Amino acid sequence: MFKNFKSVERTVYGRGAFNQLDEIIGAKRRKSGDFAVFLLDSVFQNHPLANRVPLHDEDLLVFVDVNAHEPTTELIDGLVNMVKAHAGRPIAVAGIGGGSLMDSAKAVSLMLTNPGSSVDYQGWDLVKKPGVFHIGIPTIAGTGAEVSRTAVLTGPTRKLGLNSDYTIFDQIVLDPELLAGVPKEQRFYTGMDCYIHSVESLVGHFLNPFSGAYGEKSLDMCVDVFMNPNLDRTDADDQLMVASYLGGLSLTYSRVGACHALSYGLSYVHGTKHGYANCLVFNHLQDFYPEGVETFKKMMQVQGIELPQNLSANWTDDELSRMADISMGMEILWEHAIGLDWKKKFGKEEIISYFKKL
Ligand code: NAD
Ligand code: ZN
Repeated sequence: MFKNFKSVERTVYGRGAFNQLDEIIGAKRRKSGDFAVFLLDSVFQNHPLANRVPLHDEDLLVFVDVNAHEPTTELIDGLVNMVKAHAGRPIAVAGIGGGSLMDSAKAVSLMLTNPGSSVDYQGWDLVKKPGVFHIGIPTIAGTGAEVSRTAVLTGPTRKLGLNSDYTIFDQIVLDPELLAGVPKEQRFYTGMDCYIHSVESLVGHFLNPFSGAYGEKSLDMCVDVFMNPNLDRTDADDQLMVASYLGGLSLTYSRVGACHALSYGLSYVHGTKHGYANCLVFNHLQDFYPEGVETFKKMMQVQGIELPQNLSANWTDDELSRMADISMGMEILWEHAIGLDWKKKFGKEEIISYFKKL
């Protein structure tokens, strides 16, 4: 059986595209009392972008702080209660920010129409009803959350997405102007998430020409952006926004691999953020991705990025064991990276040995 791939319904791309948001949401406003919800990364609290959100009187604007933690099921359940208390069910939910805000908007949209807690839907195809019309507007590029069918949440027992066709955005607005203020390090870590999506998608058992075409273009664009110190930031951001989109499409029809399987363990046990965790791990994955890691190291050099060493010296055996258990659970990623019979070749001991290199 092949995946019956669902895409984002509508996409607008270009500098200044954010200005079309009012018109896009306006098409959904039909009667008095109709309201929209805007979830905006709190980094924009005193930023001109906050004043450009096309807020109507009845709308709700919520600043969401994802600086300390990536989104949790608790955060989502709280936001859903806030929206319901505001005026019931909105006509649209827009998430403006990085992967954290986009995933939050997806999850809030779904939890407004599906009963219970978001914890109940962490997994595959557990969501039974379409969510509220939801719009993704990236302000940092790389995760591919704008096109993916998951909303990654950290819950009480695991970090796992609400994976479903209903999760996919109805509309995305890709405006590279919004990437202008991202600090150098964060830009690199999230950009490398895209690079790593492409490398992992392109190296593994589930690679096929459909995902390969997206992955190759995405990889080329990432390398162009991060390997070329003279590239104008405007041109670079125009490319990075598209690379992220293509990288997300590539992994949807293939899979990510060893780096993501390991970085999930690291993030869950130590709270390390996704893009940064991927960089920490990928730096030591020469065995899996020799060319990819070589280029990654060169890009770090060009961008003046340094990663800490000997992190694992502070980790207890219990922590290493929990990290490895989470990582082992990412079976479909290991199937892609190593093969369907991966368990015959690779186990907890090997996983721990990779964590000890960090
Ligand atoms: P993020 O959304 O967590 O944001 C990282 C930091 O950048 C935050 O401090 C934020 O405030 C700041 N920021 C965002 N835009 C900015 C801007 N324009 N200027 C200045 N600062 C800005 O980062 P991310 O790497 O985009 O997303 C990571 C999250 O995405 C994780 O929760 C991860 O699990 C999730 N993720 C989801 C998918 C998916 O397919 N759904 C894929 C990969 C990662
Ligand atoms: Zn990723």
